[in-house]
Amino acid sequence: MKERNYDVAIVGGGPAGMSAAIYAGRARLKTVLIEKLLPGGQLLSTDVIEDYPGFRSIIGRDLARLMEEQIKDFGAEIQSDTVTGISPVDADWLVRTESGAEYRTQTVVYCPGGTPRKLGVPGEKELTARGVSYCAICDGPLFRDQVIAVVGGGDSAAEEGIYLARFGRKVYILDNDNKLEASPLLQELVFAHPRMEVRFNNVVEEIGGVGRVEWVRLRNVKDGSVSKLDVGAVFIYIGFEPNTELLKGKVQMDERGYIISDSRMRTSAPGIFAAGDVRAATTRQIINAAADGATAALQAYAYLQERRAPAPIAARRVAKEPTIRKKRAA
Ligand SMILES: Cc1cc2nc3c(=O)[nH]c(=O)nc-3n(C[C@H](O)[C@H](O)[C@H](O)COP(=O)(O)OP(=O)(O)OC[C@H]3O[C@@H](n4cnc5c(N)ncnc54)[C@H](O)[C@@H]3O)c2cc1C
Repeated sequence: MKERNYDVAIVGGGPAGMSAAIYAGRARLKTVLIEKLLPGGQLLSTDVIEDYPGFRSIIGRDLARLMEEQIKDFGAEIQSDTVTGISPVDADWLVRTESGAEYRTQTVVYCPGGTPRKLGVPGEKELTARGVSYCAICDGPLFRDQVIAVVGGGDSAAEEGIYLARFGRKVYILDNDNKLEASPLLQELVFAHPRMEVRFNNVVEEIGGVGRVEWVRLRNVKDGSVSKLDVGAVFIYIGFEPNTELLKGKVQMDERGYIISDSRMRTSAPGIFAAGDVRAATTRQIINAAADGATAALQAYAYLQERRAPAPIAARRVAKEPTIRKKRAA
């Protein structure tokens, strides 16, 4: 397989990667963005976005499409492939993909986001795509007029629960705590919705059904009581696991596997920048991912400039000295 040479290879085409591609392309860096699905990342599983400046309300996939068009305007290449390995080669990096392609690159912007956290209860795996889902936009319309359970109490659970209430005849939010963690505005919408109900202090212990989801078994963490709720679908929103396995042992991470980077998105490995949801101590929102991507691309540019700059005068003098001495001796 022929090796291709790049200034920047971007791993993941969510808002972080797309923003990095816009900035790197605009800085005239030879850039490739590698995305395993479609450019957009989590934007593609988000219905309405109301908190991205400049858009009072925009559908996630529309924002993704606009970002992709902007990348093309500035000439970065987009490859549809899965990155399977990142390893050092001399002072560069080699990015390998599932299709066998190899990209030799001076810098990497690593932004593959996260994977939805699983509940890990009996029935979840067996009934995934048979009523168990992690994406309301993708699967919500399949459950028209049914009773739907949403597991979780944060912004995603509340937001996607509200979306699911367009289809379901009833939507239960199942929260393991005694209060929602979602923002006050989302909480207001949930509590005011005529077809939504929050069941606090309830954990899902099992998901059951023959060939498709038919019920969930719940345990009340306060009094220990067990109950069964008949539902046609279970949507799970209990957080994300960062997709950082490709850089394990190569860059510094925190105890939860998130990448530690500085305010310039630099990781502990020279030439590798992290952006978006994979970063430790970030606010996991589109605007932050986009900002991280922009910073990472501009810092990759600065890193390349530094690499290409002639050595400082003192260093050049030292390097030249043997030649000068040789001439004098002659
Ligand atoms: C349901 C839901 C609703 C949300 N609503 C909002 C909202 O209203 N406002 C807001 O600001 N934020 C919202 N968020 C959060 C926001 O979407 C994320 O913070 C943001 O998308 C993170 O961007 P990212 O680029 O870091 O990662 P992602 O968006 O996760 O993108 C990562 C990309 O990398 C790709 N990838 C992963 N591994 C590889 C690999 N090995 N090779 C190639 N490609 C790979 C993935 O396919 C994916 O496309 C929401 C999230 C969800 C799930």
